[in-house]
Amino acid sequence: MSARVSVFPVRPAAEAEGASLRNVDALVERGLVAAEARAPLDAVARRYAVSLTPAVAALIDPSDPADPMARQFVPDAAELVTAPEELADPIGDAAHSPVEGVVHRYPDRALLKLVHACPVYCRFCFRREMVGPGGDALTGEKLDAAFAYLAARKEIWEVVMTGGDPLILSARRVREITARLAGLDHVKVTRWHTRVPMVQPERITADYARALLVPGKASYLAVHANHPREFTPAARAALARLADAGHVLISQSVLLKGVNADVATLSALMRAFVENRVKPYYLHHPDLAPGTGHFRLSLAEGQALVKSLRGHLSGLCQPTYILDIPGGAGKIPVGPAFLSGCETPGSGGVAEDRDGRLHAYPPA
Ligand code: SF4
Repeated sequence: MSARVSVFPVRPAAEAEGASLRNVDALVERGLVAAEARAPLDAVARRYAVSLTPAVAALIDPSDPADPMARQFVPDAAELVTAPEELADPIGDAAHSPVEGVVHRYPDRALLKLVHACPVYCRFCFRREMVGPGGDALTGEKLDAAFAYLAARKEIWEVVMTGGDPLILSARRVREITARLAGLDHVKVTRWHTRVPMVQPERITADYARALLVPGKASYLAVHANHPREFTPAARAALARLADAGHVLISQSVLLKGVNADVATLSALMRAFVENRVKPYYLHHPDLAPGTGHFRLSLAEGQALVKSLRGHLSGLCQPTYILDIPGGAGKIPVGPAFLSGCETPGSGGVAEDRDGRLHAYPPA
């Protein structure tokens, strides 16, 4: 694990222009992949989608073989290895999908999967078998059926818009969705999940940020970022436009070996969120997606890292470490625990402070 934290863009912002890099040829031409390394990567690209936006490509240091941005977005031959425990649908979306585009796993909230494409394709994506260029958008009769389901289930208090990345939709399409959500009286909270503010920040204009608001509902927006280097001036400005428009910003990150699995990087990442008005929310243990074993660390390693954050950072900077139980049983917090010996009703307990010292707490 590296403790080095590089926060600033490697290339000037002016280079963050042009077209996205969508195949191995483009990566070789840009100098992000050595020509002699291309054969296995072509095989990876035939199986899993590739896309790096100009903003992401500009953040990669091609001279660093362990560059954390390259690791997130440039294909790796290790993706050709699928471990026996890995699953095409690791969090069991299909088992909880009553109609196309809706995942209803918990009683009071539902996912609305609006599109199956993204501006970037993360190499660790938990939906990598379902997302890709040209991935279907939920439109027409399918969208009508999804909204009919949401309208009929009065217990749904929150709707989470996801995909793919729903912020690739045009402002016009977004307004169609938000207008329909506004008509669901029992839905009180809406939440967008997206990487766009970090990987394509120029998309988040003030007008687009307003389009994402749902009249009459509390609007949350979960920003996906995994490394402090993603907080470029353009990304920070995009986050400010979203916060200023009235969204409550929360974070989601994936704990990834070779990207952010060290205390210094995680600390800088969580502080960057808070400095940009994004409350750290979820730090996901990596899902069992196919070809992603090179990103995974053990739960014990993850707990030790999260425990270190508790000692080092403001309470505002603490995410919840989350495991999505493989197969669809849902998300659970996976510690670490700071209290033991309190399992019996009425018993006291032993509390561990941030320096590892133990303190007895009396029985009730
Ligand atoms: S943005 Fe999200 S859905 Fe899209 S590739 Fe990355 S992790 Fe997967």
